[in-house]
Amino acid sequence: MKYIGAHVSASGGVEFAPLNAKEIGATAFALFTKNQRQWVSKPLSPESIEAFKDNCSKYGFSPMQILPHDSYLINLGHPETEGLEKSRAAFLDEMQRCEQLGLDRLNFHPGSHLNKTDIDSCLRTIADSINIALEKTKGVTAVIENTAGQGTNLGHSFEQIAQIIHHIDDKSRIGVCIDTCHSFAAGYDLSTADGFKKAFDHFEQVVGFKYLRGMHLNDAKKGLNSRVDRHDSLGAGELGEETFKLLMKDSRFDNMPLILETPNPDIWKEEIEQLRKWEKE
Ligand SMILES: [Zn+2]
Ligand SMILES: [Zn+2]
Repeated sequence: MKYIGAHVSASGGVEFAPLNAKEIGATAFALFTKNQRQWVSKPLSPESIEAFKDNCSKYGFSPMQILPHDSYLINLGHPETEGLEKSRAAFLDEMQRCEQLGLDRLNFHPGSHLNKTDIDSCLRTIADSINIALEKTKGVTAVIENTAGQGTNLGHSFEQIAQIIHHIDDKSRIGVCIDTCHSFAAGYDLSTADGFKKAFDHFEQVVGFKYLRGMHLNDAKKGLNSRVDRHDSLGAGELGEETFKLLMKDSRFDNMPLILETPNPDIWKEEIEQLRKWEKE
């Protein structure tokens, strides 16, 4: 079963996210459980938590169809104490919000070395940060997203993701989300059948599909290996339709949230319909 949706708005409260997802015909969705551009948000109210759970069951969204995303401010590999402590506290808060909402996974970008430390120690810091959060929470898997490798962002190669996982104490609660745009920008050519096969064979070898907990379906505005994180609507970018046709035909991407983060919300409904057509073709 393919669960397809988009990163929908939760403005007005998290309980509106499942409604917004339903409106575009989605069977999956992503959301921010707090304002993604602020360090601190007020706690979720019991009413909001209840309404979220009610709406999810009313519209048929179970935790395996939902992929919450953390704040962009968080850097779990921060090379300086103050920034690292702030990030770790905010990440724990994000994990606890997922716990409160009954969600089983949290998607995040691993972190950046900011040219102030080397790659290996930054990856180690990221793993330590994840371990701390996992120890203080229950039932929520930390889902590392692969990045485009823009600036000093780590996690752009499957090897770096494997290196983080290697240092995680509880491997039953670590997962991976692959973003098609980020993969292409980082040098994995998913635009052709041959490239797609090579990239995901490599993923299986280095990381393993057993860790895959979600996908971000985005076309890419910039070229292969550009290291630039710019999403495009499906079929409109450098990846093209082929990538998404292949993905929809591939059972390795069943039973997890497949999330659009494409730039035009007005066509999400059509993009979801198109993906469903490709699935059935
Ligand atoms: Zn993404
Ligand atoms: Zn992106």
